[in-house]
Amino acid sequence: MTTKYTDVNEFPQELRNSFKQNLTKPLNYRKKQLEQLYNLIDENEDEICDALYKDLHKNKIESLLGEIDMIRQECLDSINQLDEWTSPEYVKVSLAHKLNRCHIRKDPVGTVLIIGAWNYPITLVLCPLVGAIAAGCTAIIKPSELPMNSATLLCKLFPKYLDQRSYRCINGGSKEMTELLTYKFNHIFFTGSGVVGKIIMSAACKHLTPVTLELGGKSPAILDDNINITVTAKRLIWSKSFNAGQTCVAPDYVLCTKKIQEALLLEFPKVIENQFGKDVQKSSDYARIINQRHFDRLTNLLDQTKGNVVIGGKTDRDNLFIDPTIVTNVPKDDKLMEDEIFGPILPIVVVESIDEAIEYINEKDTPLSLYPFSNNNDTIKQMPNLPFGGTGASGIGAYHGREDHVTRIATIIST
Ligand code: NAD
Repeated sequence: MTTKYTDVNEFPQELRNSFKQNLTKPLNYRKKQLEQLYNLIDENEDEICDALYKDLHKNKIESLLGEIDMIRQECLDSINQLDEWTSPEYVKVSLAHKLNRCHIRKDPVGTVLIIGAWNYPITLVLCPLVGAIAAGCTAIIKPSELPMNSATLLCKLFPKYLDQRSYRCINGGSKEMTELLTYKFNHIFFTGSGVVGKIIMSAACKHLTPVTLELGGKSPAILDDNINITVTAKRLIWSKSFNAGQTCVAPDYVLCTKKIQEALLLEFPKVIENQFGKDVQKSSDYARIINQRHFDRLTNLLDQTKGNVVIGGKTDRDNLFIDPTIVTNVPKDDKLMEDEIFGPILPIVVVESIDEAIEYINEKDTPLSLYPFSNNNDTIKQMPNLPFGGTGASGIGAYHGREDHVTRIATIIST
């Protein structure tokens, strides 16, 4: 299958004109388009799940949880709460202004460019699009080109549901993006790596365009000595094997004492077998690595680690398969501890104490997420009404839920 890339040149001006003509501002228009976005997902659920299966071997539950239901929910929340979110916010006034009523008005900024990463190819462009539509902006979405079945399907369905005068879907890679980034946008929303995040920010800088950057990082799990081993093992394996560990908020590595490491090693094999059977490669529930470049990146890490590969370790390049793999006694300066792993490999770094774990984390860039395990924790679950975003190297800005709309309507959208 070859993907046809889009000629991007006419889009920005067209969308800017629609915005100038106030096409996207009326609340009824925004609600109608959000309904249409809901329908796009709802009426094509099976086709979307098939595309995700072809691209990433994602099973249906993972596609429903990580993509379809999230988008449906965000559309409904936005439709239901749009009136409240967009109503003027009255503020207290000082004595000198007692005769005035002052309020913050939520105005859309204009045309938004939304660029997605490959690991959740549909969610990562459509959830930010929900915000842009709700805010009254026009928008271009650019799904990652790597999961090509999902990207092609999305760009095929898009014009059937959404008003093309206001919203466009572009298929393209870095060449098309380099061209597109020469245009002035009013906001750029990017999900992806820090390396490309820097390219996006420098391009935005030339037009003083504000950016939201949803990046990655090494998200640690710190394990207390009092944890419930069975529950912790289940949660770590679940989150590290969901989409084969290719999730921005997956626990990247574990910090714990030797005693806990040994106890986990007894639990992990049972959890893996229970979830995927004796031979994980035969399970229809386990995803694959996106492509050979990422497969090679991950297997090189396994070749170079000074830790011990004690569980898993089976790989198959033709099938892009990597077992859920546990590496123990990983030195703090190991190759596995340099960059975000973004795959089903879980290194365990032994520490003497929680203080030592905290000191180690603080020496690194701020992670996107952090999982302290005591006896009441979970991993990778994002509550719909909480804001989501990183700090420093893991990102700038936030989205999702009400707070998302506060940022989108008050930040994407100036007052
Ligand atoms: P990437 O940075 O390689 O690509 C992201 C997007 O940028 C793609 O659409 C790609 O086509 C585009 N792109 C590539 N080169 C470009 C260029 N020169 N100019 C403009 N655009 C360009 O990232 P990826 O490999 O798709 O995603 C993996 C990363 O994304 C991981 O670090 C992961 O943690 C992060 N991520 C973060 C979140 C979050 O919400 N914070 C969610 C998912 C993934």
